[in-house]
Amino acid sequence: MLFKKVVGYFEKLERTSSSNKMSEILAELFKKSSKSVDIVAYLALGELGSSYAGKVTGMADKMVLKAIASAFGQDESEVKALFKKIGDVGLVAEKFCRGRGSLKLKNVFNEIKKIALASGAKSQDVKIKYLAGLLKKASPIEARYLARMVTGTMRVGFSVMTILSGLAIAFTGDKRNKEILERAYNNNPDIGDIAKRVASKGLKGLSGVGVAMGRPIKMMLAQRVKSIEDIFRRMPAGLAAEEKYDGERIQAHKKDNQVVLFSRRMENISAQYPDVVEYVKKLSGRDFIIEGEVVPIDSKGRSLPFQKLMQRRRKYDVEKYVKSIPVCYYLFDLLSLNGRSYIKKAYPVRHKALRGIVKKSSRNLQLAKRKVIKDVKEFQEFFKKSLARGNEGLIAKSLSSEAVYKAGTRGWLWIKWKKEYVKGMQDTFDLVVVGGFYGRGRRSGTYGSLLCAAYNGGKFETVTKLGAGFTDNQLAEFKKKFDVVSEKPEKVVVHKSMKPDVWFKPSVVVEVLGAEITRSPIHRCNVKKGKGLAIRFPRFIRYRDDKSVRQATTSKEIERMFKR
Ligand code: AMP
Repeated sequence: MLFKKVVGYFEKLERTSSSNKMSEILAELFKKSSKSVDIVAYLALGELGSSYAGKVTGMADKMVLKAIASAFGQDESEVKALFKKIGDVGLVAEKFCRGRGSLKLKNVFNEIKKIALASGAKSQDVKIKYLAGLLKKASPIEARYLARMVTGTMRVGFSVMTILSGLAIAFTGDKRNKEILERAYNNNPDIGDIAKRVASKGLKGLSGVGVAMGRPIKMMLAQRVKSIEDIFRRMPAGLAAEEKYDGERIQAHKKDNQVVLFSRRMENISAQYPDVVEYVKKLSGRDFIIEGEVVPIDSKGRSLPFQKLMQRRRKYDVEKYVKSIPVCYYLFDLLSLNGRSYIKKAYPVRHKALRGIVKKSSRNLQLAKRKVIKDVKEFQEFFKKSLARGNEGLIAKSLSSEAVYKAGTRGWLWIKWKKEYVKGMQDTFDLVVVGGFYGRGRRSGTYGSLLCAAYNGGKFETVTKLGAGFTDNQLAEFKKKFDVVSEKPEKVVVHKSMKPDVWFKPSVVVEVLGAEITRSPIHRCNVKKGKGLAIRFPRFIRYRDDKSVRQATTSKEIERMFKR
């Protein structure tokens, strides 16, 4: 397949704003991709392989500008000047390119992979050389997308869901089958593999997608409600409550005495937690996939604040920090054991199997504290105890025989109850920072407030302006924390009166406590009759570096919270 063909579709997609239309265009492209359907799916998502493989090219705008100058024999300062003006490496590459284009899709993909794999002292030069080589063979429009692909700024605003809809239309003839594809994707978050399976065998091709050792499963998430009574209404078959620990969720895979740890973002974080790897090795069971929360603890085994754990996010001096910040891995689920998948089994069955492999608990590895709960009073008592032990609250888990592990889904089989909920309307949101407003007075020289957005299927819709809750240190580090871009990122939806002084690349997620949700004409979250939803009196709680922007609170969730 020619790269030109794919790029033609990307251009068409860029001019489309309706996600229905996008899925249809994508379906057309997928049908024409035949053997390269996996590559097309990866590139459409801005990935170079499964989302857990973590392949990124490691090319910043600056390096791409160098490659453009080298490929087209231009003066670097001229290229930079144009970039300063238009702020999009893709358009800069397009402007300088004069070629006719003869690239093959497969070659492009392989070369971009080479860029990603280049490492070591001279890697920057090597990456620039590979990209320049590609640009030389490109047509202007191909150059536009090449530059965007390597910097991960595809600008075509679609999400995994749009791609799955496209695949459903193309290879099953019915868009509604997207849900089946989504379930398969949650068990196996590799869009190329899913694409290949449906392209060759339709829905039948997905039947074999189960869990696999060493391949992360998208994590199941919890819903929220307004009152404890609501929890009981939602769980008529009964419930168990577990302490909700405030740490980092980890999915551990063990096979042949090898252990791999995955984060919520599906990154392999084993090197960061060599201590946890050892604790997991001591569990019984030949091979298994388990989940739990890692929490920093003091010498008496009590939970310490989440911030402490962030010091363990490092590449160097890991061993030193293993000693100075010990952790406990609190286990709460089991997804596979000795070659058998447990994700379709009910929570009580999964938990029993989990108890079976934790023969001996220790200070550093134990089961999450759990209790089967009869009524609201008992729930409240257990909740208070959990808070007294330094935790966030409780997670209620349905004891129904239908309570399967719903990978990647925020459903009613798990419901969280946090201390903030007790104080009335207050609730926390995980929002994406998209811009900054310059500060005055004590905050001059940094940003005074941040423009924050909710996630809505590939788009970021602004929902609040956040200025409270930061420490002086955090304020001083703002400039380092956010990546300034010269124009509004395409995927950000903002009202003209809410334009910030500077735009940021949407990459940082913040947890925000809000007092109230209202309708406001100046925010763009789930707009109805010209008014979007807005979070009033927001307060910064912490950075959620463990969450990707696609895992931020969605506009739909905020709508639901507004209505309840
Ligand atoms: P939230 O991030 O507020 O949506 O809350 C859900 C998160 O709570 C999960 O993703 C886990 O990281 C964490 N958590 C802590 N304790 C538990 C538990 N016992 N069961 C499930 N999740 C837990």
